[in-house]
Amino acid sequence: MPDAPSTDFYAAFVKSGPGSFLASRLGLPQPPVLRRYQPGKPALAGPVLLGGKGRLVEPVRELLADYDLVVNNGGARGAEKLGGAVFDATGITSIDELVGLYEFFAPQMRSLGNSARLVVLGTTPELIEDLDEHIAARALEGFTRSVAKELRDGATAQLVYVHPDAATGASGLASTLRFLLSGKSAYVDAQVIRITDKDATAPADWDKPLAGKVALVTGAARGIGATIAEVLSRDGAHVIAADIPAAGEALSAVANKVGGTALPLDVTAEDAGKKIAELVKSRHNGLDIIVNNAGITRDKLLANMDEGRWNSVMAVNLKAPKQLVDALLAEDALNEGGAVVDVSSIAGIAGNRGQTNYGATKAGVIGLVDAYTPVLAKKNITINAVAPGFIETAMTAAIPLATRQAGRLMNSLQQGGQTVDVAETISFFAAPSSAAVTGNVVRVCGQSLLGA
Ligand code: NAD
Repeated sequence: MPDAPSTDFYAAFVKSGPGSFLASRLGLPQPPVLRRYQPGKPALAGPVLLGGKGRLVEPVRELLADYDLVVNNGGARGAEKLGGAVFDATGITSIDELVGLYEFFAPQMRSLGNSARLVVLGTTPELIEDLDEHIAARALEGFTRSVAKELRDGATAQLVYVHPDAATGASGLASTLRFLLSGKSAYVDAQVIRITDKDATAPADWDKPLAGKVALVTGAARGIGATIAEVLSRDGAHVIAADIPAAGEALSAVANKVGGTALPLDVTAEDAGKKIAELVKSRHNGLDIIVNNAGITRDKLLANMDEGRWNSVMAVNLKAPKQLVDALLAEDALNEGGAVVDVSSIAGIAGNRGQTNYGATKAGVIGLVDAYTPVLAKKNITINAVAPGFIETAMTAAIPLATRQAGRLMNSLQQGGQTVDVAETISFFAAPSSAAVTGNVVRVCGQSLLGA
């Protein structure tokens, strides 16, 4: 997937010979080149060290049988840099045993290669009855978020909380580990993902996890939405690309590129959900995946904000995602085993000056995920959200230069993300192999300092 044209002239400069020399002399940040997913290429640049004494080590070893694994032998082989390190902390049941994190990771900190992946596995604290074990499991979060801030060269660290009664063989964990242990999660850093006790089936081909699925993406004519359409199609889905009628030509171009269907549609129209339902029922066997990506900003300080700006942002960003799902459920057009993926924002987590309307909608989207998780679970449908940080799009290219550069650098990876980084996370959520992943909000922000 080609990267969006970047206006990050600083990054380009410090990557050049003289620029790199100058940056190191002056101690300026030098953004690393992130390793991204390429079909057919190894998921990581080096072997993965697997350790820990919990209930997940053995299942994980089997789930990752096609990875180059080094199991519990205390280090990389010779001078070889590690591509990743996975530590099963589910065996840690007391504060004292947390030293196991130190013992496993500390010796590896100088052996990590470019874009290496650290993953900590723990048991979901809220579901642990034993007081000491609950506290120890919760401590994993502070460790992971802190070590992520110490990593260099595009390396990241994540925490996965697994339900105490995880399905046999921890099948629900496989898609999450493969997402995290690959370039697909290049701009996802210091996140916590919760896995339920549901079983999940591996796809016939991990490079085509959405094979045979029908996906609808709103706001697909440009920006992040256009890339979501491309990635879902690359992963095997038939994509219905929806956008406002005025987006006409751009929308057709996206639909043609992905061999999908263009659907001119204003998501705020009262009959929008009904129209989608009619289309998927007449032309397909219903809808498997809906990605509520369409979004707008109408920024003003609250003192200067007119009601029109407030209402239009509410209508597109929050009311439409709810109405579409309600209508699809009412029309019985969303298939069992399907997925809803919503697009929030770090502005909905940290808040943003001039964005009371936008911030409210993007936090509301998180509420939508929380509220609908149990409702949709009854139909075996998952719901999750991505919360992008600074992503290189036309929207962020319009931000004044100084603010834009600050936005790029104020995260652990010292750069803006690409639209493909958001799209990869969405495809991970959308896959049937992620049936055990529901109710999550994953930030795609390079561990932005905003709202951390
Ligand atoms: P964009 O403005 O480039 O694209 C948004 C698309 O949504 C456009 O094609 C637009 O026509 C469409 N749209 C708007 N109103 C619509 C409606 N009523 N019906 C149907 N389509 C409609 O924006 P983007 O940067 O690609 O953002 C995509 C999503 O990501 C949005 O929800 C946005 O809030 C979110 N987001 C973006 C960033 C970023 O850095 N770019 C950061 C956080 C969150």
